[in-house]
Amino acid sequence: MNSKQVALILTVAVLILAVSAALYILGGQKPPPQERNVSVVATFYPLAYMVQEIGGDHVSVKSLIPYNTEVHSWQPSVSDMVSMTNADLIVLNGAGLEQWFEEKVMPLLNLSRTLVVDTTAGLELLPLGDHEHHQDYENEHETGEHNHESDYDPHTWLSPYMAMKQAEKIYFALKNFDPDNSEYYRQRWDSLKTRLNSLDTSYQQELANKSREMIITSHGAYGYLCSRYGFEQRSVIGLTADKQPSVQEMRAIIDLMNEQNISVLYLDPAYSPSYINSIKSEIERQTGRRVEIVKLYLGLGPVDGKDYFEQLASNLQSLKIGLLTN
Ligand SMILES: [Zn+2]
Repeated sequence: MNSKQVALILTVAVLILAVSAALYILGGQKPPPQERNVSVVATFYPLAYMVQEIGGDHVSVKSLIPYNTEVHSWQPSVSDMVSMTNADLIVLNGAGLEQWFEEKVMPLLNLSRTLVVDTTAGLELLPLGDHEHHQDYENEHETGEHNHESDYDPHTWLSPYMAMKQAEKIYFALKNFDPDNSEYYRQRWDSLKTRLNSLDTSYQQELANKSREMIITSHGAYGYLCSRYGFEQRSVIGLTADKQPSVQEMRAIIDLMNEQNISVLYLDPAYSPSYINSIKSEIERQTGRRVEIVKLYLGLGPVDGKDYFEQLASNLQSLKIGLLTN
């Protein structure tokens, strides 16, 4: 940590103390939850969606990371820190997605009156390949900075099955925090659970007779779908989405697609299409075969008029294009 970073952290700490003191003088203690909405800060859109679905009229939820922005390299601002200290509940994805929480928020904020919900705690997580760790952390290693590198694939929310497990954690947290409304939460959780469960069943049934076992994606975010429904992903920009592919890596994907006669490339609209477009034109130039680019959503915000759940449902239809054709 250099002196500039130390100065920044001290500034942030002083600001937070000042704001906390002002809030204490102005507002005193928070009123009990039955007299107001439970205030929830979710780190990103899928979690905010789940909180809203389960909490309904009894929660006020804020997504910390703006919709449809890169989540892997995001860092909180001072106002984000303040909104976290004022929340009743902070909902995290966990599995290494929010490295900044442990490194920057926990040491700095007093969260003794806030319940932190790690929605993937205790779930069966997939390991992250050695070569797919975050580029920034590798750079920090070189400067000797201490960090906690994640060993897990963080993209749990893209699997309806894992999402259901995460939503269940949110349900338990809301029920425990605000027991007066537990019946309300239970009914809404039942309805969300039913939707996610039936989507999981649809994925299983509709992908059961697939004729292919591999998809090529821009960002390798679909590992939990692969593992649950029995196929593989190869990605152009890896698991952390901020690494540029080398010429060799692009070449390897093109060779693989030619060998296996793969004609579908998957792309999330949140990411740049440039690498995917070059691969498409290169294969079409070499072989004359037409390559189709199909949308596969990351669920990082409402997009194309689709909410989080609708994006998961749409992904199944997209996967059928690549996995059920010859
Ligand atoms: Zn990602």
